[in-house]
Amino acid sequence: MKVTLLSDDTTKSRATAAERPKHPAELTPGTEEVVSGVWKITLPIPFPLRTVNIYALVGRDGWALVDAAMGTPEARAVLAEGLERAGLELRDLRALVLSHHHPDHIGLSAELQEQSGATVYMHPIDAAIMQAMWHGEHQRSFAQANQFFRPHGMPPLEPTVSSQLPPEVLNFVIRVPTAEAITCVEDGAEITLAGEHYRVIWTPGHSDGHIVLFRERDGLLLAADHVLPRITPNIGLYSEYNRANPLGDYIQSLEKVRHLPASLVLPGHGEPFRNLARRVRELIRHHAQRELEILSLLGRRPQHAYQLAEQVFGPRLKNDEARRMAVAEILSHLEHLRLGGYVRQERTDDGLILYAAV
Ligand SMILES: [Zn+2]
Ligand SMILES: [Zn+2]
Repeated sequence: MKVTLLSDDTTKSRATAAERPKHPAELTPGTEEVVSGVWKITLPIPFPLRTVNIYALVGRDGWALVDAAMGTPEARAVLAEGLERAGLELRDLRALVLSHHHPDHIGLSAELQEQSGATVYMHPIDAAIMQAMWHGEHQRSFAQANQFFRPHGMPPLEPTVSSQLPPEVLNFVIRVPTAEAITCVEDGAEITLAGEHYRVIWTPGHSDGHIVLFRERDGLLLAADHVLPRITPNIGLYSEYNRANPLGDYIQSLEKVRHLPASLVLPGHGEPFRNLARRVRELIRHHAQRELEILSLLGRRPQHAYQLAEQVFGPRLKNDEARRMAVAEILSHLEHLRLGGYVRQERTDDGLILYAAV
């Protein structure tokens, strides 16, 4: 059975044309029922992406939520409005699935779990990273990442905004359940959410423990940040504790979902879309082109990752966060190329790591 999209008319934003941002549907917070019993709640986030989607799956005996956004005052207001619109009460929340450990997907997870007693599902890899990041070690993991990037030519970074916030402010925006409160789910697990069966598919790449959910009955794919409609998910190597080849993982994970009989894809950012195979093809092509670009730059002379990032991303490296993501992204390509035998590393006397074409 194919999924039917509900009419747009029920979901129009109340913003006037003048208030609407450039990509109105994607950037406007709000709530809509995308498929009978499945609500997309689009919440504001304080990042360039502007919004994140979380999905409420509603059954006869309670409901489940996929992802937990961030607890900024603006997001809390939109969420409260969204739950009311969908007729949902927190006390009936039975399960919370966290697709991956990034802050815009987990911020309200502890609070929602405590208020409802919901079971929290997550892949064990990202569950462990989430504990390490958000239970007191945020400063340390930031310092580690900073050190990891130095030999790759990165200029010294300022501490991230979140690592400078006082704990009570940070805890209001991002607070995660303890390890004991999380039920780990592995690749291929079947879970029941709001009375329906979903298959957990482990899709490492965007994060090492990223998962998507597939509902075989009608081909609904909750894709989180694995396959996004308009932008390319960030695929980066951020530390030596990462899996070694995130881009290799990502391409394999794209292949893993490419032939799913998906009737509708519900992404973590942007609007739901239908043609999964085509979008997967585009993403694979994007990374192949980026690799050719990097190889041609290395054809001129050996270079470190930051030099390459400057040439590939240019003016987009406008702040530390953009620089960090860009270098991590370049490194994921370089390591993918290196493990494929196309480039090799060279160390300079002053401790820099250069990549050279083979
Ligand atoms: Zn993410
Ligand atoms: Zn995201």
